[in-house]
Amino acid sequence: NKFKKLTIKDVLKGEEDYVGESLKVIRKEDGDINAFITVVEQSSGKIPIAVKDNIVTEGIRTTCASKILEDFIPPFDATVVEKLKKNNFAIVGKTNLDEFAMGTGTEYSAFFVTKNPWDKERVAGGSSGGSAAAVASGEVVAALGSDTGGSIRQPAAFCGVIGFKPTYGLVSRYGLVAFASSLDQIGPITKTTKDAAYLMNVIYGKDERDATTVDKKIDFEVLLEKDFSKAVVAYPEEVFGEGVEEGVKKQFEEFIKFLEKKGVKVEKISFPELKYSVATYYIIAPAEVSSNLSRFDGIRFGTRVEEKGLLETYLKSRKQLGVEVIRRIMLGTFTLSAAYYDAYFEKAQKVRRLISNRLNNFLEKYDFIITPTSPITAFKIGEVRDPLVYYMMDIFTIPANLAGLPAISIPFGFSGNLPVGMQIMGKRFDDPKVLGFANFIE
Ligand code: GLN
Repeated sequence: NKFKKLTIKDVLKGEEDYVGESLKVIRKEDGDINAFITVVEQSSGKIPIAVKDNIVTEGIRTTCASKILEDFIPPFDATVVEKLKKNNFAIVGKTNLDEFAMGTGTEYSAFFVTKNPWDKERVAGGSSGGSAAAVASGEVVAALGSDTGGSIRQPAAFCGVIGFKPTYGLVSRYGLVAFASSLDQIGPITKTTKDAAYLMNVIYGKDERDATTVDKKIDFEVLLEKDFSKAVVAYPEEVFGEGVEEGVKKQFEEFIKFLEKKGVKVEKISFPELKYSVATYYIIAPAEVSSNLSRFDGIRFGTRVEEKGLLETYLKSRKQLGVEVIRRIMLGTFTLSAAYYDAYFEKAQKVRRLISNRLNNFLEKYDFIITPTSPITAFKIGEVRDPLVYYMMDIFTIPANLAGLPAISIPFGFSGNLPVGMQIMGKRFDDPKVLGFANFIE
């Protein structure tokens, strides 16, 4: 299937019916991959793109992979969707995710698990697993995902494609169903860095409907041809610590050698706060979840399960949420309660600031910080049962969200027959530079 390599750039030059072609591939392959929750047969535009199903689309079902939104047809488009449509993209489908984007393997989707195109017994990663698998399997040219703690970069790494999380505030979250608003960011999943930069130019920008967007003119493609052989990068020594798969460590060593061959200077740094990032994130994100998801009660939003009394109606309606979502609502409700606020939430906010300051200091001295994207490669479907094991998988991706920094995952070799991804993190608003460097080493 020639779609496997087909890029946005190719489509822009070509004359074929790429949308029709993409729909054909989806019909042929998706029974095996399960990347899509909804396939859209009729859409205008030339470039076939997939959109994660927590980004609302007018007239097209948007489920967040949750029972409670199974029949939700939004009356409006997310800002990014408006922008896609204006720029000749055709949304050919809505992709699978962990329910409300909470998870690491799409195993928490209320509907089905997405399979990794490289090994169908394994997960595609998560939470944007559907988007990454759709791009990797050649069902679409590109996709949008959302990233709260790694959900664009980790599935991109597991599936051997590019995933980019922009600086917080560059892409409007209007129409992205909120998970943890201070961390959420929409970004591209593509086959090349050039395509990621192209898509960023399409979707970014100040939006009156999202007060956290910044008014800044950026050209994400401007540094794509720059020579980065004089760059100085750093990696945290903790990358070689426990919990990181041997094959991933080996690839990371190869990555360092590869950069050095290109002339790049690579230095080791110590980042002791790294080990607190997971704990910090799993206080802050669930706290925001407990607030953001209170609207799905069957009264204001979400399918109502009609019962005799009001309380019963609430309870039955809320029971449509899955175990992981409920776990986070409970956690967040607990840490925000008056008795525990100081002990957990307030402390986590302080550690978030520490981690953020530390990263910003490093990035005064170094152009980029590099790590593997994930400490492991794609795991077997059903293999992980302990939520803490899942949570630890986010160790390298979470810091960029806590600090609002841009970070990209690029494929770099294999461990066994599974792709390994490397992460490049840059300074706030250095998104074009991160993309430029990624393109330089691609
Ligand atoms: N795996 C992380 C979590 O479960 C990140 C999810 C995300 O980025 N949406 O919260």
